[in-house]
Amino acid sequence: MKNKKIIIVGGGQAACQVANSLRQQKYDGSISIFCSENYIPYQRPPLSKKFLSGEIDSDRLYLKPDKFYKNEDINILLNSYVQEIDRKNKTIIYNDKHKMQYDSLVLATGAIPREIQTEKEDLKGMHYLRTIDDVKKIRNSIKNSKNMVIIGGGYIGLEVAAVSRAMGLNVTIVEMADRILERVTSPVVSDYFSSYHEREGVNIMTKTRVEGIEGNGLVRSVVTSSGVIKTDIVIVGIGVIPSQELAKSCGIEVSNGINVDEYCRTSDKEILSAGDCTLHPNFYYKKSIRLESVHNAIEQGKTVASTILGKKIPYNQVPWFWSDQYNLKLQIAGLISNYDDYIIRGERGEDSFAVFYLKDGKICASDCINRAAEHMVSRKIISEGISLEPEKLVDESRPIKDLLN
Ligand SMILES: Cc1cc2nc3c(=O)[nH]c(=O)nc-3n(C[C@H](O)[C@H](O)[C@H](O)COP(=O)(O)OP(=O)(O)OC[C@H]3O[C@@H](n4cnc5c(N)ncnc54)[C@H](O)[C@@H]3O)c2cc1C
Repeated sequence: MKNKKIIIVGGGQAACQVANSLRQQKYDGSISIFCSENYIPYQRPPLSKKFLSGEIDSDRLYLKPDKFYKNEDINILLNSYVQEIDRKNKTIIYNDKHKMQYDSLVLATGAIPREIQTEKEDLKGMHYLRTIDDVKKIRNSIKNSKNMVIIGGGYIGLEVAAVSRAMGLNVTIVEMADRILERVTSPVVSDYFSSYHEREGVNIMTKTRVEGIEGNGLVRSVVTSSGVIKTDIVIVGIGVIPSQELAKSCGIEVSNGINVDEYCRTSDKEILSAGDCTLHPNFYYKKSIRLESVHNAIEQGKTVASTILGKKIPYNQVPWFWSDQYNLKLQIAGLISNYDDYIIRGERGEDSFAVFYLKDGKICASDCINRAAEHMVSRKIISEGISLEPEKLVDESRPIKDLLN
C-alpha cells in the first residue's frame, strides 16, 4: 500500500476517523485531508453546549492534537475547498486551480444548516450554528442582547435555549410544528421537554410560522403567524442539508444524501463516503436513512477504512444520539418513528426516567433521561433482538442490567 494515495474531502468527525482508522490498521500510504474550514477536525456537539456557554475553550474541541497529524504523517490542508472531481483521471481540483490525484477518494463533507427563506438574510444578530466561527459570532452578539428568538424547536434550538437562559437572556422558541422535537421523538418526551423549558422561563410558540425577519442593519424583530416578537438576536436551527453537490456534479448517485452501500461505497467504487452526508442502508430498520450523529460519523469512518483496505466489514449499527439541556442528559437509541406502544421506567415528571418504544412487543427505540444504564441496555436489546416482558422493564426493584442475565 506504500504508493497508494488516499484523499479525504472534509475535515470533521468522519474525516478524522477515516484517517485514524487507516493508520490504526497499518495503512502506510499517503493520506491527505482537505478541509474548507480553518481548524483541524473538531467536535461539534459542544458548540451548542459548553463551548457556547464559555465553559470550555476551542482547545478542548479538537478531536486530536496538532501533533497527531504530524506523527501519523497525515497531510492536512486547511482552508482548502475541493470544488471538482475528475473521476476519469482520478483527480480532485481544489482552491480554483490546484490538482491532486487519488487512488481512493473519501467524501466526508458533512452537512450545512438549512437556510430560512426571508428577504432580509444579512442582518447582524442573525445566526446559524454549525462551526466554531458561528459560535464566536453568537457569543459576541449575546453580549449586547437581552432577548433571543430561536427559530426551530429541535435539539440544537433547545440546547441553545438552555445555555442562553443560564446567561440571563429572555428566550422565545418559534416552532412551526405542533410540538417541539416532533421530527425525532414521541409526544410524551416532547411534552416533558416543553414543560421543563417553560419552567426554566423559555417561551415556546408552536404551530407558529416565521413570516419575516425585520431590522435595519441589526435584527430587531421576527414576524410570525402569531404576532411580532421583538428581539436582539435570532438563532436559526431548522435542520441541515447534506453537502452532496460535489458528488452530484461528478455524476455520483445522490438522493437525500450521497447514496452508499453497507461498505460505504458510492456508485463509483473508488469513491467512498461517511458521516452526515450519506444516505445509507440500515440493517435494523430495513431502510435507507441519513443520520446526523457523532456515532454514525465514527462508525462509518471505520467502515470506510476497512473497505479501502480490502476487509469487507459491513456497517451495521443501531443509531444513537444524545442531547444535553440544563442538568438533563437525553440519550436516544434507535429510530423513534414506527413504534406501536411505549412503556416508561421511572416517573415521567422527574429528572430521571426512560421511555422504551415497542414494535410488536419488542423494544425498537428508547429515550433515556439521566438514565445511562437504561440507554446502554436498550442498545444491546435492540442490536441483539432480545425479547423482554414489558412488566420487567418497568420494575424498578431490579437494576436494569440484571434483565440481561
Ligand atoms: C451544534 C451542533 C450540536 C451537535 N450535537 C450533537 C450531539 O449532541 N450528539 C451527536 O451525536 N451529534 C451532534 N451533532 C452532530 C454531529 O456533530 C455531526 O453528526 C458530526 O459532526 C458529523 O460529522 P461529519 O464529519 O459527517 O461532518 P461535519 O462535522 O459537518 O464535517 C464536514 C466538514 O467538511 C467540510 N467540507 C464540506 N465540503 C467540503 C469541500 N468540498 N471541500 C473541503 N471541505 C469540505 C466542512 O466545512 C466541514 O468542516 C451536533 C452538531 C452540531 C452542529
